[in-house]
Amino acid sequence: MNFKEIFLVLAISVAITITNAEYVSYDQYKVYKIVPSSDTEVQILLDVQKSNQYLFWSDIVAKNSDVRIMVAPAKQVEFEKYFESVNIPMRVVIEDVQKLINEQLQRPATRSAKYEWNYYLSLNEIYAWIDQVVEEHADVATAVTIGNSVEGRPIRGIKIDFKKQVNPIIGMIEGGIHAREWISPATVTYIINEFLTSSDPEVRFMAENIVWHIFPVVNPDGYAYTFSDNRMWRKNRSRFNHTSCAIYGLSDDISNGIDLNRNFGYVWMSIGASDIPCAETFAGHVEFSEPESRAIANYVNTIKNEGRMMYYFAFHSYSQMVLVPYSHVAGANVLEAPNYADMFEIAVRGMDKLKAKHGTEYEVGTSAEILYPVSGSSFDWVKGVAEIPIVYLFELRDVGEFGFLLPPARIIPNNQEIMAGLIEMEKVTRGLGYYDIVSGGERAVASFVLFVLALVAAM
Ligand SMILES: [Zn+2]
Repeated sequence: MNFKEIFLVLAISVAITITNAEYVSYDQYKVYKIVPSSDTEVQILLDVQKSNQYLFWSDIVAKNSDVRIMVAPAKQVEFEKYFESVNIPMRVVIEDVQKLINEQLQRPATRSAKYEWNYYLSLNEIYAWIDQVVEEHADVATAVTIGNSVEGRPIRGIKIDFKKQVNPIIGMIEGGIHAREWISPATVTYIINEFLTSSDPEVRFMAENIVWHIFPVVNPDGYAYTFSDNRMWRKNRSRFNHTSCAIYGLSDDISNGIDLNRNFGYVWMSIGASDIPCAETFAGHVEFSEPESRAIANYVNTIKNEGRMMYYFAFHSYSQMVLVPYSHVAGANVLEAPNYADMFEIAVRGMDKLKAKHGTEYEVGTSAEILYPVSGSSFDWVKGVAEIPIVYLFELRDVGEFGFLLPPARIIPNNQEIMAGLIEMEKVTRGLGYYDIVSGGERAVASFVLFVLALVAAM
């Protein structure tokens, strides 16, 4: 066979694998950790990343950043030899990726009727859970669909409104925009459950005085695909830009899909995003090309007219960080975001309370400062275009020990500390004067005082 024929056979075998919809095996795949310590080392890593021969768990490479690279068994010798030859130290942090995937897919032998966050739910299970929760709390919870995905799946969530006030304070929570970050939907469903069922007075306060719009999986096609086909899938499942990725040594399904968190129309495609369909950070051919990103933006624009929209939280993993907008600015330029100093303080104080729970440390800053510069993300758009005051992107547990493959036993502690952080953040925001929440009794007194004042003025 000549080269062309071999290529064809390879392409066909890849195509067969895809149409058979087998779950991609990561048997014996290793994850390496490399921390580039100079600009030269960064350049070497960037060239390796551009070759697309290996799967980078970290989207972007920067000096002193913790870069995790997943390598197929057949390529491990070549990979290790290359980094030895250029004198860059590396270390294996995960010996067998598939072993961790299997652990994540495990279900407890006996499961209670109610979900207890001791395993990861599939998309259908999350949607069934939403139906169950809405039925049990029909007086305060409503099921909401904000649109459909590329493959026609509904993007579903819950609106929680305890007091049915006119002009309420409003918050929105987004989960699962990146398919493989399974801890994100597991956190967001937990927040819904806490808001509806917790007896903690602080949780009750936050749940009942703010109208919440919460969406555990805004990329339903991608999330379903991580259960059916490929655990490491990140993007949506758009086929618009389908090209062969074989020249990169990647299966062609890699070119399907757009990174929804690079597709939003705020400084779109300016930095930290790719115009190559085979890249994990492919931003799409135009801003808002995807129905999922459009659905989120349209919904934000709708609900912000229904009251005072104060909050937008997006949940990702991993790194243990609270990212403050805007993701493309660092240094003195962070002040481009209105109320940056307040957002920073609110997050730092929130993360103190988060740490008090289980000792977990989160870093706070813009993405460009503490991770890498990025453009076209949902939360930057919410801040920069929708002009919502308090906006964050959370990178949940861990810092790379398991990465995207966080064991089920760590879901609950992760969720508990996030709740502690969120409660404090709401308190600090209120303390800084962003809004006031008055109890029913206080409101009655206030309107009586206004009534008397009006009478006096009329006299
Ligand atoms: Zn993410």
